[in-house]
Amino acid sequence: MKATFLAILYLVLVSCTAKQQSKVETQHAYEYALIIHGGAGNFDAASFGEEGQLAYKAALDSALQIGEKVLQRSGTSVDAVIAVISYLEDNPLFNAGKGAVFTHEGTNELDASIMRGKDLNAGAVAGVRRIKNPIIAARMVMEDSPHVMMAGDGAEAFLVEEGMTLVDPGYFYTDKSYERLQKALKEEKLGTVGCVALDKAGNLAAGTSTGGMTNKRYGRIGDSPVIGAGTYANNNTCGVSCTGHGEFFIRYAVAHDISALMEYKNLTVEAAAREVVMNKLVEAGGEGGVVCLDHYGKPAMVFNTTGMFRAYINSEGDRLIGMFKEE
Ligand code: ASP
Repeated sequence: MKATFLAILYLVLVSCTAKQQSKVETQHAYEYALIIHGGAGNFDAASFGEEGQLAYKAALDSALQIGEKVLQRSGTSVDAVIAVISYLEDNPLFNAGKGAVFTHEGTNELDASIMRGKDLNAGAVAGVRRIKNPIIAARMVMEDSPHVMMAGDGAEAFLVEEGMTLVDPGYFYTDKSYERLQKALKEEKLGTVGCVALDKAGNLAAGTSTGGMTNKRYGRIGDSPVIGAGTYANNNTCGVSCTGHGEFFIRYAVAHDISALMEYKNLTVEAAAREVVMNKLVEAGGEGGVVCLDHYGKPAMVFNTTGMFRAYINSEGDRLIGMFKEE
């Protein structure tokens, strides 16, 4: 009797495991994948000239190529995120690094963060004024300090100790690019940048960098350097980078909420991102969007504005670059 019971139990367990395995096997994993955003906002084709659209698409295309090269050579997802975001920070089209927006007081205060999905280590800098590439600074906080977030003068002092050279705050002012972009975007300058990468070792990393919101008050910090709000990565679920009205993304812990919906409710990355961006944030009045990769390299690009600069590539040659809703 006992033996029969044990035999039945064994058969049930074996069939459950086989079912679970077949569920896992039907999920197609890419060898590597990369997803990028360059900010979300209420813009359409008419907001940009033909030339403006081409410039943004060319920049996203170059960013994809830069990141893909790193991943093809078996570089880490952290290296890919750093390479992509530093490139976008150096490009004045975007509201990060060189092209950072101006505060109400006419200064530039930059925020950035990075997170590793393998061990949940993370680093961030907030309100820095003399760092050319805040994403590199965020990595230094992650790798070379016992802290997760460092702000303002203290962050800059730490980075100098670590060997980083500061730039003059004037570096972030370019009359020409500033005026050109103001004209192009009519209302507010957008263009926060973010990137999520999955490397060949199966590790996710996510990063975000921004000048914040135009006309922000001195000392205002947005969601971009806040782990769990603007950036999150966990190999068990997904990597997320956000863009939009930061105060809402902080209050709704958007990036972590997407990961949590996958972890606790078994939602797909697309369903989780939709739930947060199209339901929760819309109800709250929070505008913006997210780019995510799940741990198989499957993307989600969800935004509740009319546009979001975005791009995706994977190891099988799927490729997408878009700006508007219908792309
Ligand atoms: N989320 C950024 C902030 O609030 C701005 C943006 O993504 O456009 O600082």
